[in-house]
Amino acid sequence: MSRIVSLIALLALCLRVDAQQNFDNVQIHVEPVQHNIYMLVGAGGNTTVQIGTEGVLMVDTQFAPLAPKLMAEIHKLSPGPLRYIINTHLHPDHVNGNAAIAKLAGYDPTLPLKIIAHENVLNRLTESAPGQPRFPEAGLPIDEYATPEKHLHFNGEAIIIYHEPNAHTDGDSVVLFRGSDVISTGDIFTPDAYPFLDIEHGGSVQGEILALNHILQLAVPARTQEGGTYLIPGHGRICDDADVVEFRDMVVIVRDRIRAMIQKGMTLDQVKAAKPTRDYDTEYVTSSSFVSADRFVEAVYKSLAR
Ligand SMILES: [Zn+2]
Repeated sequence: MSRIVSLIALLALCLRVDAQQNFDNVQIHVEPVQHNIYMLVGAGGNTTVQIGTEGVLMVDTQFAPLAPKLMAEIHKLSPGPLRYIINTHLHPDHVNGNAAIAKLAGYDPTLPLKIIAHENVLNRLTESAPGQPRFPEAGLPIDEYATPEKHLHFNGEAIIIYHEPNAHTDGDSVVLFRGSDVISTGDIFTPDAYPFLDIEHGGSVQGEILALNHILQLAVPARTQEGGTYLIPGHGRICDDADVVEFRDMVVIVRDRIRAMIQKGMTLDQVKAAKPTRDYDTEYVTSSSFVSADRFVEAVYKSLAR
């Protein structure tokens, strides 16, 4: 029940975001990443686009009202058919555009669009509470997976989708474009903000650290520590290996501090009052942050106290 309540709260939050935000003024910025991979920044999570002779693959779809603008930019990059959408997780700022984009892409039975996500994403998107709108069927992942990884070959490169258990949520996918040497991390990695550990939807700090370490295993920096593998985070700028190391180290240090406080018997309020993130707050919190320092501390505490 609490899960349904929290999903309602999440949806309510998103509807508020929808109502408040004037998407008319949002422009889509297209940033070339490496080889045939682009990052599209609008409102909501970052969208990754891979193009080639077989068509277009995208990772995450932002908000539905942005679908025409996103598709217009994608068509400038490639006239090919949209063949795949991969959703990194269930949050609306990453999946809300699915149905609208699928509609704009049209339906060709010989080249159907496949929407891929971990099965926990599908399960949660089809859970609807009484009185709440259902997630549009045309936007549901129809090609869900329940294995540790899923392999694709598209536009001449291997694409490996890894499930990262219980990190940001319980349905996180990290997408490795093996030929282009680019990784879409979803919200596991947000270089300018504390990670949102969505405990109500299966997230945890332990899973978050394991996922960040896994991303670091996949990423290979160039000799200068810059370049090599590029990372498209859930939100924020294009990053490299060193940026993930810095972020992972911060999460590990904060986890260790809070764990030590829990071992001393400190309550959540006492831990918050001790400000275990103080030296990081200027880097990871701004006035518009979704995750305040207190919220991050609380999620870490709850993960460890369980
Ligand atoms: Zn998210």
